[in-house]
Amino acid sequence: MTTIAAPHVPPRGQRCDGTSLPPNVVTAILVFLAHRRDSTMSGTHEKPTLGRRGFLRLSATLGLAGISSKILGLLPSHPIQAQEAAMSKTVLSFYCDDTSPYGRPPEAFKTFLDFVSSQGIAGESSVILGIGGALLSRPTSDAQRTYIEQVQRAFDCGIDANMELMTHGGLYDFKEHRVPEDAPHEGLWLHEPAVSVEDYESYFGHILEEGEQIGVKFTGVTWPGCGCEVCTRRYAELRQAGITAVNPNVGRALLNLARQGKFRRRTVPCFIHPDESFSGARLMASDGPYAVYDLIANVGDWLGSYDNTPARVNADYYISADGSAGRIVDLVHAGAPYAVFYAHWQGLNPATGVGWRAFTEVIARVKRFLGDRVTWMRPSDITEQYHAPRAETA
Ligand SMILES: [Zn+2]
Ligand SMILES: [Zn+2]
Repeated sequence: MTTIAAPHVPPRGQRCDGTSLPPNVVTAILVFLAHRRDSTMSGTHEKPTLGRRGFLRLSATLGLAGISSKILGLLPSHPIQAQEAAMSKTVLSFYCDDTSPYGRPPEAFKTFLDFVSSQGIAGESSVILGIGGALLSRPTSDAQRTYIEQVQRAFDCGIDANMELMTHGGLYDFKEHRVPEDAPHEGLWLHEPAVSVEDYESYFGHILEEGEQIGVKFTGVTWPGCGCEVCTRRYAELRQAGITAVNPNVGRALLNLARQGKFRRRTVPCFIHPDESFSGARLMASDGPYAVYDLIANVGDWLGSYDNTPARVNADYYISADGSAGRIVDLVHAGAPYAVFYAHWQGLNPATGVGWRAFTEVIARVKRFLGDRVTWMRPSDITEQYHAPRAETA
């Protein structure tokens, strides 16, 4: 079970239909479309189904130690896990939503990747191939070309690529190569109960093919949030009908594509909702070594967020200047399997983001005070490790 956003009302005159717009407008729209992944978005998730007996058996069979056993044993109250947690490291990772080549100097993404690589950290950054209706597979500007070059090196720098679907707006028509005026928005469409596995698989498959055209192999999927009036109204209707989560056919479709080798890894991490009360990966679909997980972000966004506001910047929220307090510190000291935070490119980017300095400060503090207690992993590495023992015993 997840809770659908209580979306906000869009600013007057702003459009949210995903039709073709100049790139400089896209950035402003993204601020408006972007996720409300704060407290209004938190929901309850079913916990992983690996029971105590299964955990003990797997631990014994596989001789698990350190990180992988910790990820495997996402059972916070279990004494074995608590014991192992004390001996092993907490995994750190992050999602960065809404990344795009628009609205900032083209080298902003390069600066970000260079920093990630030089610090030895790892995470994820969304790739939205048709944002604003402009296709990255048909680049028309140097900014797009520069971004594509960087996206191609992202994985080697430690950064996964989640599709935040095709447009982060209206559903794209891959035959007509446009977004119809009345197209439903992609995030909402993921929740519509009548959509079939085949329809989702076809749509995601087209996006994966678009990615291949520019040399991007996707790792996962991020739910594109939207607070437009149409989505707000429809989300309310769905809630009233008891539908508060993504259509299960989404997971089945992603699994089919993973089995065909269309994703970079055999497991597909998804970022659907954050939940600070839960550290774990919620299984969406699996078949042997292939699996789709909702890898839940358990640390909030205080890096400027989608509206790039200084009021939403607070490095101390993650880790205080003396390393004694903060959300990441708490999770590490509690022996949590991981601390996954999320951010938005609007606030995080090194060119115009008000959260960039805080981001680099957090990384420096973690290194200084928690360096021997944590290890950085991209989301797809987390799900690969998490799923491996399950696949072997399936
Ligand atoms: Zn987004
Ligand atoms: Zn919408």
